[in-house]
This record gives sequence, structure tokens and C-alpha cells, in this order.
Amino acid sequence: MNKEVQSLYCLDLFNYQRLVTQEVTIGTLRLGNNQPICVQSMTNTSTLDTEASIAQSERIIDAGGELVRLTAQGVREAENLQFIRKGLLEKGYRQPLSADIHFNPNAAEVAAQYVEKVRINPGNFVDAARTFRQLEYTEEEYQQEIQKIRNRLLPLLSICKEHQTALRIGVNHGSLSDRIMSRYGNSPAGMVESCMEFLRICEEDDFHEIVISIKASNTLMMVQTVRLLVSTMHDEGMNYPIHLGVTEAGDGEDGRIKSAVGIGALLVDGIGDTIRVSLSEDPEKEIPVARKLIDHIMKRVGHTSIKANVATSFNPYVYYRRETSTINNIGSAHAPLVMASEKGLGTLQPDLVTNELLFFTVEQLSELNTTQKGVKFLKLQYGDLNETLIDQLKKIENVVVLLSSDHPNATAEMRAFFHALIIHNCSVPVFLHGVYNERDLETFQVQAAADFGVLFLDGFGDGLFLENELLLPSQVIDTAFAILQASRVRVSKTDYISCPGCGRTLFDLQTTLARIKAATGHLVGLKIGVMGCIVNGPGEMADADFGYVGAGKGRVSLYHHHQCVEKNIPEEEAVDKLLALIEKYNVLKNSRYEILFFLENDSIAIFEVKRLDLVESADPAQHYQWFLVEKKQQSLSPLTFVAMTNEGKHHERVFEQGILQFDDLQGSFEIHDNLRSSLSCKQKSTLDMWIMMAVDAFFRDR
Ligand code: SF4
Repeated sequence: MNKEVQSLYCLDLFNYQRLVTQEVTIGTLRLGNNQPICVQSMTNTSTLDTEASIAQSERIIDAGGELVRLTAQGVREAENLQFIRKGLLEKGYRQPLSADIHFNPNAAEVAAQYVEKVRINPGNFVDAARTFRQLEYTEEEYQQEIQKIRNRLLPLLSICKEHQTALRIGVNHGSLSDRIMSRYGNSPAGMVESCMEFLRICEEDDFHEIVISIKASNTLMMVQTVRLLVSTMHDEGMNYPIHLGVTEAGDGEDGRIKSAVGIGALLVDGIGDTIRVSLSEDPEKEIPVARKLIDHIMKRVGHTSIKANVATSFNPYVYYRRETSTINNIGSAHAPLVMASEKGLGTLQPDLVTNELLFFTVEQLSELNTTQKGVKFLKLQYGDLNETLIDQLKKIENVVVLLSSDHPNATAEMRAFFHALIIHNCSVPVFLHGVYNERDLETFQVQAAADFGVLFLDGFGDGLFLENELLLPSQVIDTAFAILQASRVRVSKTDYISCPGCGRTLFDLQTTLARIKAATGHLVGLKIGVMGCIVNGPGEMADADFGYVGAGKGRVSLYHHHQCVEKNIPEEEAVDKLLALIEKYNVLKNSRYEILFFLENDSIAIFEVKRLDLVESADPAQHYQWFLVEKKQQSLSPLTFVAMTNEGKHHERVFEQGILQFDDLQGSFEIHDNLRSSLSCKQKSTLDMWIMMAVDAFFRDR
């Protein structure tokens, strides 16, 4: 990464400096321009229930919340905000309120008259709900759509100006419009552009009381996208304050660690003016977690300088795991490992236990050289590193670095170590080591996740060794595994994407999530979405394999990827039906598939999907389970032939059709990753969409 690129997303990769943003006034609160980072939360009461909303807002504020958001799904809810505002003022609560708007510009215009801030989602402010259909837009049509947004946004800006109401432009991964999807796919560039379109209109209208956010439940996607947003704003001469959050983070340990990894990764680089830790729990419980995270990051302010150079090959916007040599199961060919000082009593056990390993210090380098057997761990800090030592690290066999830091900004010092190794082409594997003396489990989880998550998101680290003598070994081990999972480098348990709930929630979120967790906790690697409402749920659980979504009072719809497979079933039957669906999927996912597709110019069409293991079935009727997904044969000629064999070999020539084979539903994307290099950006995103639809349709048919 060159200096220029670095300066666009953060001021210094190795020395903490807060990014100075434009100051925005939200009622009694000032945000940006080095004002303290503000903590906020959102109610989950019905906004029509004035008393309950006031009471919950009070609890959030009493816990330390500095801004409270309430959903306003319609004009009635937006109108009722005036009574909630009035009730809180009468009780002496002057903290600003924010209205959360989706799909309803009219509600935004009403809310802007009563509360201090309105949040709109560019994915659905004007555009209809995403249809997941392949849509083509000419440049002219695209510009007409932007004009539609301008026409709808300007009246809201005028109301905001009149009432001194601030605006949050809040983009969510998974709720991008079809228009953005057609040009950028579900990508960081798409999310950033979705936000920039709205920002440009605000700037043209000389409206600047704006806060922006880009959230995702995928921490890597969220961090890279916010970095790209900061850099893009910088390019266009803007520096609006940034709200950080990981959506649908879940509850308990998972929710806390996922949030600390995602939000912490940006805070350590000085990005973020306000944060919300979204938990599927009572909203006031979010506040202490957020406060612990901010306090931990703020310890870095004014730290002694770290002198380091940036590796020019490092790209903060794209994930690459640092390539290392392989020693047994250690190194970049393997998922990062967990080391512990002893085994715990929990279900997750460390891969390595220290009393079975050989450790050396930098003073024992000569011994390290002569010791032949096994893996040798060399304990190092950044200050130990020099060119002579790096040369030795390149030569000594079976050596793995155990990297620690006593610096107040340990994360940045460890980052400096990795950049030095990259600059000197040194491929020694590195374990990250953190020692804590923290009695409170939540504080430990938040601190460790914020310290190490960003390093794994940047592709650094081949293992994690956490120590904390004041907690049980199993708590420390579970935290290490959870950090790796939240950083998306190693999956060791079921992944739950559950919304925090709001005034739209249609069932008891906390009890339902607990029941689903109890029934599916053994399904390692599966992603299950539990979402309170049908309006935003399906889009926002973009990553989930299965979804449990509130469809109406006492009614639930079940999803497989983006497809609704069971509609409006009674809530009492829904968990059992979800389990039956997952069971059916498990059989299907272990099958082999073949997809026949056509590729031409800038388009790609899936034609048929076949389950190969049924071809050898005893029942001849089950041979050739072909079905039609889309027939575009006439419009697709001549065609490029692209075939993937069972061994993953890739053949390409001009022919009539293409066949893509893959061994299971989950493996499909890895195999066609080989194929991706030959496809255009647009073809890639279309291929993703079509394969998902094809597999979903296949799944539904069986
Ligand atoms: S998905 Fe959950 S948090 Fe989001 S709007 Fe629906 S109920 Fe509210």
C-alpha cells in the first residue's frame, strides 16, 4: 500500500489518531470534530405505545445512552414520536431521539418535525424492495432513477433545515436496491456508491447536518466497506461523522465479540464518531458493552510513537491472508489455531497446549538453531526485530513466532511487525499472544476482540494464544475461538445472525433465539438468521443459509438463502419446521451437482441444474432431475464454453454451452472461484445470483 492510499482511509496505520470529521449538531449532542465518541441504542417497543417507549428510552439513557433511536414504520408511528419526545422532556431527559425509516419517505417527513435526527436507508428510501431479479439499466434509466431519489429527498432536506433536524444516511449490506445491484453487485463498492448518491444530493442542496453509516453482519465486509467509504468521501472532499455498528450480531458472547471485532477494527484506526453495539437482548444492555469498547480504545490516545514502514503490497480494501510457510498444521495453508496454557472443561479444546511445546527467547537463538525436533516457538516483540533476526527467521527450520507486545497500542505494534515481515519477504508463521488480568468476562471478551480482530481481518496471524488467570480456562479458550469466528478466519460453531429487535419485531426474539440455539448449536458452520420482521429481515440476513423471519402476529416464514420456502406458518410449529428444513438441506448439501449455463459478452444464464448422485439411483424415474431455471438460448449465441471438471480443472473455448460441477452446495462458491478470474465483474455477480436462485429452486422442488 502506498502512502497516498494509506492517508485516505486512516491518518496512521501504526499510531492512533482520531480521524477529524465535520461537526454535526443533533439536538443537545455534538458529533464529529474530535467530540467524544457517542454511545447509542434503539428501542424495541412499539412506537405507538408511548408509555413503554418512554420507559425504555429512560432505561437506555440511565445506562449511559446518549442518543435513542425508535422505529417509525409509518406515518402514525412518526406522529407519535412527538408524544414520546414530550414525555421524555417532561421527565428531564433532553438526549436526542432519532427516527428509523425504511420504505416510507412520508414517515421521514413527519418524524423530521418532532425528533432531532432521522435515519433513512438509501436501499429502500425510494427504490422498491429488492427483488433479486437480474435487471439491466441503461445509463439514461440509471440517471432517471437518481433524479427520482433527488425529487423525493429534497422535500425531506427542506423539513430538516426548517427544524434543525440531522439526517443519518444508513446503508445496510443486504438491503441494496436492484439498481445498485445491477451495476455494482452486493459489494463494498455498491454499498459505498449507494451512500454517495445520497450524500451528493445533500451537498448540492447545501445540507450538511449528516451522519453516515454502512453496516453488515459480516465483519470483514463491514470494515473494508467503511474504509472504502472514508477514502471515497476524502476523494470527493467530504468528511461526515461516521456511525459504526455490526448488524444482526446476535446475543451473549457471540454478539459482544462480533461487535467488538467489527467496530473495534475501525476505532483502532481512528474511524468512528458514534457506535451502537446491536445485541438481541434488552437495549440498555448494549450501553456498557459499547462503553467498555470505547474506553479500551481510548487508552491508546497519546501513546509513545511506533516507528514502522507500510508494506506497499498491503491492500486494506481486499482480504488476502499473509502467505507463510507450512509447519505441520500451522501456516497460511491452514485455518489459524488456538493455543492455551491448559485444556478447559468446555466443548471447544485448544489445538495446542503450551506444556507440550518448545519455547525459545531471542537470547536462545543459537539453541533454536541446533534443536532439531518438532515445532519451535520463538517469543518475540516488535522491538526485537532487525534485519539480522529476519535473515535468521528465513533460515531456521520449523520456527514459529509467538508475538506479544507490552505497548499501549499493542495492536498497532503487532501490525508493524507483520508489515516488516512482508517488506522483507519473510514467511515465518506467527501466533498472536495476549495476556489479560481481567475478572469480568465481558470486559475481557471486548478487549481481546478489539485488540486482535483487526489483525485477523487484515490477513495477519496463524494462531491465537490468550491468557487470563482470573477466568476459567474454558472461558479464555471459547473467547479465542469466538474471535477467530467473528473475524471469519475459522468456523468452530453455528453462526447466528439475529437482529436486535425494534418496534417492528413480531415475536419474542430472545426466547425464540434461545430455542433455536439449543436445537441447532451442533451444526458447526451453518449460518442461521433469526429476524424480527419481514420488512427488513430477509434482506438484512444476506449471509444466512436459513432464516426464521416474523411474518405477522404469531406467524413466521422460513427462508433458504433469499428464498421463502414456508410462508406464514404458526409460530408454535416454526422451530420444528426450521429443523426439518435443515435436515433436508443436510442430505442435499452432500450431493454432487452440475449446472449448465451460458456465457456471452456481459451476461450469464443458468439453464439447468442436475443432481448427479441421482443419475446412478435405482429408480430410473429419478435419473436426470433436470429443471429449467431460465431459458435464454436464442439470445445467447455464439457462446463461450466454460467447464469445471470434478477435479476442479477449468476448460474454456467457444462452444454452445457451459457446465459447472460442484460437490456440495457449500463448496460451490470455492470451485467457481477458479472460474471467476475469467469473468467480468458483472458476470461474477450475476453468476452468484443465478447459482443461488438455481440451488434454491432445486432445494424447493425436492
Ligand atoms: S429485522 Fe429486526 S431490527 Fe430490523 S426492522 Fe425488523 S424487527 Fe427491527
